[in-house]
Amino acid sequence: MKIINPATEELIREVEEDTEASVREKFDLLKKGRPAWSALAVEQRIACIGRFYDLLASEKEDLAHTLTRESGKPLAQSYNELDGARARIRYFLDHSARYLAEEWTVTEGATREKIVYEPLGIIANISAWNYPYLVGVNVFIPALIGGNAVFYKPSEYATLTGMHICRMLHASGVPEDCFQLVAGRGIVGEWLLDLPLDGYFFTGSYRTGRHIAEKVAPKLVPCGLELGGKDPLYVMEDVEDIGKTAAAALEGVVYNNGQSCCAVERIYVHEKIFDRFVGEYLGHMKKMKVGDPFDPATGIGPLSREVQLEFLSQQIADAVGKGAKLLYGGNRLERKGFFMEPAVLVNVDHRMRLMKEESFGPVVGIQKVSGDDEAAALMADTEYGLTAAIYSSSYERAEAIMRTLDTGTVYWNCCDRVSATLPWSGRRHSGLGATLSYQGIRVFVRPKAYHIRG
Ligand code: NAD
Repeated sequence: MKIINPATEELIREVEEDTEASVREKFDLLKKGRPAWSALAVEQRIACIGRFYDLLASEKEDLAHTLTRESGKPLAQSYNELDGARARIRYFLDHSARYLAEEWTVTEGATREKIVYEPLGIIANISAWNYPYLVGVNVFIPALIGGNAVFYKPSEYATLTGMHICRMLHASGVPEDCFQLVAGRGIVGEWLLDLPLDGYFFTGSYRTGRHIAEKVAPKLVPCGLELGGKDPLYVMEDVEDIGKTAAAALEGVVYNNGQSCCAVERIYVHEKIFDRFVGEYLGHMKKMKVGDPFDPATGIGPLSREVQLEFLSQQIADAVGKGAKLLYGGNRLERKGFFMEPAVLVNVDHRMRLMKEESFGPVVGIQKVSGDDEAAALMADTEYGLTAAIYSSSYERAEAIMRTLDTGTVYWNCCDRVSATLPWSGRRHSGLGATLSYQGIRVFVRPKAYHIRG
C-alpha cells in the first residue's frame, strides 16, 4: 500500500497490507493474551497507559511531523491534536478506576448485592484518518484500561500514525498479544467483521458505519458508531460582536481543512445582520493562507484525499446550478498537491446538496433566515445529528432551540469542540452509542450482577 504525501503527491513509503491469514494469526494471538491482561489490577493497566501518555509528549515532534506528512494537516494543528489526545488520556487515567470499581448496591440483610464490571473481550477499533489520535484514543484507551484486547485498524490514510501508536503502546507495557494493528484498506476491516469479536467500535462515514452495523447485528455484541455530520451554526441578530462570531464560524468551517466530523457545514444568519456577517466572514477568509502545511503561516493545508476535490467541486456546481452565488474560492490550486481554496456561497437553500450532504472540506453555504423559528426548522432539516451551534447574547433564546434539536451535542457561543468530560455521541446518521466521559469508560465493560446470600 502506497502512502502518499497529499501536499506534494510524493510517495512517503510503502506498507505491506495485512492478509486474511495474517489477520487470523493476530486474532489467535489476542485470544491467548487477553485473559492475563483482563486479570491485571486496573491500576496496572492504568500505569501502562500513563507511560504511553508520557511517550506522546516526549516524541511529540516526530509524531506531529509524521501526521502532517501523511494527512496534510498544518503542523500547528498536528501539535494541537497530540495535546488534545493527551488531555483525553489524562481524563481516563484519572477517572477510570472509579467507574470500573465494583459497586455495592445492598450491603445489609440476607442477600447482599453488587455490580462488577467485566471487559467485553477482544474488540475491533476501526478508525478514521482525519484525527487519528483523537478518534483512536476515544476507543483504544478506555478499552485497554477496561481490560480488553484491541484489534486496531487505522485508516489507510493514517497508517504511519497508527504504526507509531502501536509501537508506543507496546513500549509502554501493553503486551503485543493484547494490542494488534492491522494495516490496509476497507477489505482488511471487512475481515475483522468476519471474526467472532466481542465488540466493534467504528469511526468513519455513515455509509461504512451502516454496513458494519448490518454485518455485526447478528452477533449481538456491542457496536459503537461515530459517524459524519452536517452541523449547523445559527447566528442571531443580537450577537455581541459580529466580527468575532464570523471568525469563530470560519474556524469551525476550515479547521483541519473542514475535515472534521463536527465541522461547521452550514450557517444560518438573521437577516438583520446577514450582509455584515458575510462581509466579515469573507474578510477573515481572504486572510487565510492556503499552502505548505509545514509553513507556520499556513491556515489551510491540502485535502487529505484527492477524490475529495472532485466531490466538493460537484457540490459547488450543483448549488450554483440551482441559484447559489459563489462569493469566493472553490478552485483547485495550480500546484502539486490536493489544494483547494476555501469557498463560501450565499443564496443557498435546502434543495442543494451543499446544504444537505456532508462536505468534509473548507466549503460552506450561508443562508439568510427571518428569525428563530425558521432557523430552528432548517437546523433540524437533516438526517445527521452530531452537533449544532447557536451564537447569541441570550442563553434563554438559544436554549429554547437547543432543547428541540435531535443532536448529541449543542453549543452556545462556541462550536467544533469536544470535551473529555462530556459524552461524545451522534444521533441517527451521525452514530450510535457514546464515547468519552464516564459513559465512554463503561461502554467497554459489561455489568455482572452478584446476589450474595449468607
Ligand atoms: P470511511 O468510512 O471511508 O473509513 C473509515 C474506516 O473504515 C477506515 O479504516 C476504512 O479502511 C474502514 N473501512 C472501509 N470499508 C470497510 C468495510 N467494508 N468494512 C470494515 N471497515 C471498512 O471514513 P473516513 O473517510 O476514514 O472518515 C471520514 C468520515 O468519518 C466522515 O464522515 C467523518 O465525519 C467521520 N468521522 C466521525 C467522527 C465522530 O466522532 N463522529 C470523527 C471523525 C470522523
